[in-house]
Amino acid sequence: MTDDYGRNIRYLRLSVTDLCPLRCIYCMPEQGVDKLEHGQILTVEECIELCQACAELGIDKIRITGGEPLIRRGIVDICRGIGALEGIRELCLTTNGVLLPRYARELAEAGVSRLNISLDTLDAEKYRRITRVGEMGDALAGLAAAEKYFKNTKINCVLMGGINDDEIPALVDLTREHAIDLRFIELMPIGECSGWDRGRFIGGDAVLAAVPELESCGSSGVSRMYRVPGWAGRVGLISPMSHKFCADCNRIRVTADGKLKPCLHSAEEIPLQGLHGGELREAIARAIRAKPVSHVMSETGHSDSRRGMSGIGG
Ligand code: SAM
Ligand code: SF4
Repeated sequence: MTDDYGRNIRYLRLSVTDLCPLRCIYCMPEQGVDKLEHGQILTVEECIELCQACAELGIDKIRITGGEPLIRRGIVDICRGIGALEGIRELCLTTNGVLLPRYARELAEAGVSRLNISLDTLDAEKYRRITRVGEMGDALAGLAAAEKYFKNTKINCVLMGGINDDEIPALVDLTREHAIDLRFIELMPIGECSGWDRGRFIGGDAVLAAVPELESCGSSGVSRMYRVPGWAGRVGLISPMSHKFCADCNRIRVTADGKLKPCLHSAEEIPLQGLHGGELREAIARAIRAKPVSHVMSETGHSDSRRGMSGIGG
């Protein structure tokens, strides 16, 4: 359905948990993580019912996210239920990848069509520093499992000045032999990293400066696409900070406790848990219609969202 600004809202990002075994420095604190209570989390059935209501309103793409969606109990059942809904054309999942060796096959069988895997570095020691507790080998094993069971897997890499920008050429080099989409995402000042030094927030244009051979080859969703001529894969730039894409925004988000966020950076949340049938559909339709026209950022440039990224799902 269309919102009050004529945008066709077709894409739902559903977070199925706020928990994660990793502690990425820009996303979660090292300790003292706020957790939702078990009873606040949408059940498997509620997740599916909510997606069905969205499908009836014209949503045809759903992305499962978290926290880390693969630690959610019942994740395969959630995917199977959503994958079977009429009108859902694409069911995707965003993951840090470390549990994919265990789940990739089951997810593919359950109807997940595509995966996005987050990987911010190719350096094992830096991977540990960024994720605080993760092992690079686990993420690489996850990538291999994705390659075995899925087509068109995308790698998402958050750009951080002074942390991983020195690796841009090495990361782009992955597209030489692999037919993947490697997407660089601008760091957004939300949650854990909202107070970080401004130098950490670098624009996607840093990628073009570091690899001048990249040539524009169109766009894919919110991503400006490039490739090095003759190489197998593509490079995407997702630039929510330097190139706002609010005018083309086609998405809504639902948190693991069933709050609909019409805009990532707004504090507004519409509670959906406990609603069913026509009431649930009407609440979602109202929220879609009233989606803000643009990022609502405070004067300091920080997001107004009360939740960090692990509580929203990216
Ligand atoms: N745990 C899964 C993962 O890491 O892919 C899914 C949830 S995570 C919150 C979704 C995406 O948000 C990841 O690609 C992560 O790198 C990205 N992300 C987290 N905090 C961010 C921030 N402040 N700015 C930009 N991207 C961010
Ligand atoms: Fe976990 Fe993903 Fe956040 Fe990293 S970015 S802490 S993997 S939720």
